[in-house]
Amino acid sequence: MIIERSGRRSRKSSSGYPTEARGYALRLDDVTKVYGKNGRGVRALDGVAVSIERGSFTAVMGPSGSGKSTFLHCAAGLDKPTTGSSYIGDTKLNDMTETKLTKLRRQRVGFVFQAFNLIPSLSVLQNVELPLRLAGESLDKAWLQEILHRVGLEGRARHRPAELSGGQQQRVAIARALITRPDVIFGDEPTGALDTVTAKEILSLLRSCVDETGQTVVMVTHDPVAAAYADTVLFLADGKLAGQMNTPTAEGVAERMTHLGAWA
Ligand code: ADP
Ligand code: MG
Repeated sequence: MIIERSGRRSRKSSSGYPTEARGYALRLDDVTKVYGKNGRGVRALDGVAVSIERGSFTAVMGPSGSGKSTFLHCAAGLDKPTTGSSYIGDTKLNDMTETKLTKLRRQRVGFVFQAFNLIPSLSVLQNVELPLRLAGESLDKAWLQEILHRVGLEGRARHRPAELSGGQQQRVAIARALITRPDVIFGDEPTGALDTVTAKEILSLLRSCVDETGQTVVMVTHDPVAAAYADTVLFLADGKLAGQMNTPTAEGVAERMTHLGAWA
């Protein structure tokens, strides 16, 4: 659906990210997700087919209960489709064992949530390096410093989350997501708990992951201003794709939202 096949130069990378920004970062192939037994449950996703290009920023919008979180979970291998397939790059997630999925998520996917989900007893530094420790990988101190610098928290490495503002805590969560050099960064309303000014900092940071390091960002949001940071907005309604907007503006997104039903 989001296709830009040719004529695009591969991006330069200074940080060890793949320089070939071509092809799809992820794909949902006719995905349906039914919660509950024997098809009597909730049809959270209903025949969703979408391909998201590498090095793009996609916003996912839709009324409350329209399937946005389920979309992210199926795309990221946190949840399995009832029918249909999902892919990260060329890797089909359906048939993978839980162990392999966990490994894939640790290596290729980063998550940022509305509730920052930091561990309160750990310092900023310890929170950020946690994914590497869990994966049993060695710590590259220079890379750790570079990531902290990128999110503007070099001076806060020894602080605990409770000593930081909401925006700073979300920057820690982003640093934690970036430490494994993921191909795809998923955000489920990452600016939902932040004030407007702080939200803009976080959105710029996510935008820089796309523009400077060629990563792919997929972000659920309720906010037309946040959606305008994306290259493309996907609209969901009742578990189905209900539209797409390229090079969105906040005004255009807000206008489209008024036609899609009740928004949380
Ligand atoms: P959104 O993120 O757009 O608000 P969700 O993807 O969370 O929507 O949910 C879509 C639908 O699926 C809703 O009707 C929700 O109640 C239902 N749902 C989500 N997760 C579960 C679950 N684990 N068990 C049962 N129903 C669920
Ligand atoms: Mg949700």
